[in-house]
Amino acid sequence: MHHCPLCRQITTQPHYQDKKRSFFLCDNCGLVSADSHSFLLPTIEQQRYGRAKKAGKQRQLEDFIESLIQQLRDLGQTELNGLNFGRVLSEHALTKVKTAGYHMQQFDPFFAPNHQVLQQQYDVICSYRVFEHFREPAKEWRLISSLLKPQGWLAISTPLLRSPAAFAKWHLKNNPTHVSFYQPRTFTYLAQISGFELLFADGDFVLMQKAA
Ligand SMILES: [Zn+2]
Repeated sequence: MHHCPLCRQITTQPHYQDKKRSFFLCDNCGLVSADSHSFLLPTIEQQRYGRAKKAGKQRQLEDFIESLIQQLRDLGQTELNGLNFGRVLSEHALTKVKTAGYHMQQFDPFFAPNHQVLQQQYDVICSYRVFEHFREPAKEWRLISSLLKPQGWLAISTPLLRSPAAFAKWHLKNNPTHVSFYQPRTFTYLAQISGFELLFADGDFVLMQKAA
């Protein structure tokens, strides 16, 4: 038994083990977490994370943000102040977002560690393929939820684990930079403890709204 890095309860059980890592499942919040002893060195993590700057990933990030803007527009939300948390969008794509009437700040722990942008609150925060890299998900969740204004929107892309039984065959666990794995019920738990409404959690997309 060890403490769950998300809910801090001693409700974790050994869940799966491969040649390099052990994984624990939390009964309370449903998070599957990699053993912290197996974390990569920060320099290696940065190298691997940096690969996401390649064109393919960048296009996926752009698509994610464009479809989010479309959804917000459908909800009648325009001229929002947003924060893109965890992965940097190219200047070109950022200009397109601005043209659509949205102001977007960016924070990336490796490539845009501008802590100034963490000093204010936002109408919308999006985070594309970042949550699975969180070594301290409780701390990151506290930060992200504190950066959101009341009634603000939080859009997350992270692959959701359909069931704990599916973990053994899940290829996403094989990437050593992936250390936190969420089930839909993990976001139900986070919504409950933080005063969010969970609007959607399926596939690899989660949408939540902070209470007024
Ligand atoms: Zn937990």
